[in-house]
Amino acid sequence: MRVLLIGSGGREHALAWKINQSNRLEKLFIASGNGGTKNIADNINLEITDHQKVIKFCQAEKIDLIIIGPEVPLVAGIADDLQNAGFNVFGPSKAAAQLEGSKNFTKQLCDEMKIPTAAYAKFDEPDYALAYAATRDFPIVIKADGLAAGKGVTIAENFEQAEEAINQCFSGAFGEAGAELIIEEFLQGEELSIFAVSDGKNFITLASAQDHKRAYDGDKGPNTGGMGAYSPAPLLDEKLLKRIEDEIIEPTIKGMANRGTPFSGVLFAGLMVKNGAPFLIEHNVRFGDPECQVLMMRLNSDILDLLEASAKGDISNIKLEWSKKTALTVVMAAKGYPASYKKDTEIKLNPQAENIEIFHAGTKFKQGKLLANGGRVLNVTAIANNVTQAQKDAYDAIKNIEWSDGFSRTDIGWRAIKTKQ
Ligand code: AMP
Repeated sequence: MRVLLIGSGGREHALAWKINQSNRLEKLFIASGNGGTKNIADNINLEITDHQKVIKFCQAEKIDLIIIGPEVPLVAGIADDLQNAGFNVFGPSKAAAQLEGSKNFTKQLCDEMKIPTAAYAKFDEPDYALAYAATRDFPIVIKADGLAAGKGVTIAENFEQAEEAINQCFSGAFGEAGAELIIEEFLQGEELSIFAVSDGKNFITLASAQDHKRAYDGDKGPNTGGMGAYSPAPLLDEKLLKRIEDEIIEPTIKGMANRGTPFSGVLFAGLMVKNGAPFLIEHNVRFGDPECQVLMMRLNSDILDLLEASAKGDISNIKLEWSKKTALTVVMAAKGYPASYKKDTEIKLNPQAENIEIFHAGTKFKQGKLLANGGRVLNVTAIANNVTQAQKDAYDAIKNIEWSDGFSRTDIGWRAIKTKQ
């Protein structure tokens, strides 16, 4: 099979690593990839926003399957254009990608399908939003409606913070994404992510994962794209999984099909679990980054079978096997991230133990040297019999990496370790 993978983060390196293990793979291209994918695939320069150029490339290279990693091209409708040109595409249509592209869209679907979620109200001008915020008990959550690279959510502890977030959103801090906002009830509980692959009608639940969004130890500091993750999440048992499938995943897939905009691809449901009951915080329409890294470490089946079946519209024959072990990934970021940071600092990766994979995110090679090329740079990933061991192994591996301009949290997985104890 000839495959084109779109994206350049740690998620795409992990997908490429897994795809590369398939004996069905003939050739893998990545647009644009990173320093890590360079060794296992052809990194190519392709203007992803120009769908005609992507189509031409796929025709010339006789691509059998296109896998879209990030949300931005999906929300822009790349899957529709590639499908219309006759290609098999893993990833939802523009209409179905609205599940991530608009918070209000998903809230309306929740109302329609009775999916449990936080109570909310929607606003398209500041005065009404401010008046509404003034009547609420704090904390409340303020969210820009559209894609804001994880920065569009504020948990306001008091009216002043709410006012700042509302004004910031409507003054264009998130561009078009902030033309509308929602204000929602703050949900208390424990967070959990569930991933399910759908073909538009059926779905298959993958595995659970938990990430750490804050920059610093103890889940403190500013929000980031994700500083680490582990899978499985100990919070998830059979009973909770069944409730999540019945109350959240199934009605989402059904609701989208009923509307005539079936969802195919991977649905990544961000959940809050309160007294054993799941509530939807948000849907994403692609794999999480860094959650994908830990899922790929645990997946024993051929990923191309799964992604191809979803792209072709029938996953009913797919059975997946997962390692019972725990995978844990620690993100190494450039010092200063998520604010400003230096690029082009040198990294030396030394040999690692067999249960370690280092997935690259912002890296590149220049004159044979590996250089940092972004905020989140490496995902140091271990797989082991339990979360305590996986954490130890990942941090031992980090000690082996020479990069004086990088940092990582020192406590990834702490909640799972506490739960086990
Ligand atoms: P989102 O981008 O919607 O996932 O929000 C980012 C983060 O904000 C989530 O991972 C949660 O930690 C937090 N969050 C969002 N909505 C809520 C809510 N209604 N109640 C509590 N925390 C929330």
